[in-house]
Amino acid sequence: MLDYFLIIMNINMLFLLKTTLLIFLFPLVLNADTNNHIVKNQCEKIGNKLGSVSIQECMDMKFSTTEGQSVKGDPILLKEYPPLENRLPLGKVLLIGGTHGDEYSSVSVVFKWLNILNKHHSGLFHWHIVPLLNPDGLLRKNSQRMNENNVDLNRNFPIPDWENTAIKYWIDKKGKDPRYYPGPEALSEPESNWLVGHINTFRPDVIVAIHAPYGLIDHDGPRAAPDKFGSLPLSYLGTYPGSLGNFAGVQRQIPTITVELSYAGIMPTKEEISNIWGDMVGWLRKNIVENDGNVIQENYDYDPE
Ligand SMILES: [Zn+2]
Repeated sequence: MLDYFLIIMNINMLFLLKTTLLIFLFPLVLNADTNNHIVKNQCEKIGNKLGSVSIQECMDMKFSTTEGQSVKGDPILLKEYPPLENRLPLGKVLLIGGTHGDEYSSVSVVFKWLNILNKHHSGLFHWHIVPLLNPDGLLRKNSQRMNENNVDLNRNFPIPDWENTAIKYWIDKKGKDPRYYPGPEALSEPESNWLVGHINTFRPDVIVAIHAPYGLIDHDGPRAAPDKFGSLPLSYLGTYPGSLGNFAGVQRQIPTITVELSYAGIMPTKEEISNIWGDMVGWLRKNIVENDGNVIQENYDYDPE
């Protein structure tokens, strides 16, 4: 009798366990499916738009979705290369492409560097890579610098007295050129708003933002500036009110490098893509800092990362 009771109880418990598992796991499975679908959809759009990135290449990156969405509801995708076991990364790097939607090369080149990391990620850094911050600007029929609300995201970041600096600069210095419209107020746009939130949670040690077509690198904030990345020389553009360099580099004191590729519509050569990457990683190794502010140098052997 006792045996019989135990069997009944076990069957009941098993049933309960199975039901509970199903209730908890089903939304997770559903969620993963939805995310895969969102990423696939977005990769189809990116692959169809960019000559240098195929749909399959984009799918192979296995991007994650984030809480970030564009004005039109497109996902802002992210690829994370987390710390590896048994190796403390030197620091956290946030790399951003496609802030301006008409700078095609600034998105495509990030995919080429992702290919390098997929092969060679050695745990040297903890990377967060956002290949396309402004999907609406790139993916519309006629790609444009601004986002869907016609705001230049790189003038929409918060700085003290934003109205009297970003807006004033746009009126006085840019003659209200619509390509540089900073928006109605700082962080009015979902894309810039998400990025600032992401900077607050990820707390990168360095930020690298890719643009085109000025053919140079620029540096805002602390740490020694690099001389060059590949054939791109250091040249100070000046810090525009409301730009990422102004917000992150000057205000937040996070070293921020702007890489301006030479052409918006033509990719650098294979060799140049790899040289820019090599110099960038070399500079990061020498200049990235831990939170205690000590510069860590030459602790590791060379990594092709
Ligand atoms: Zn740009």
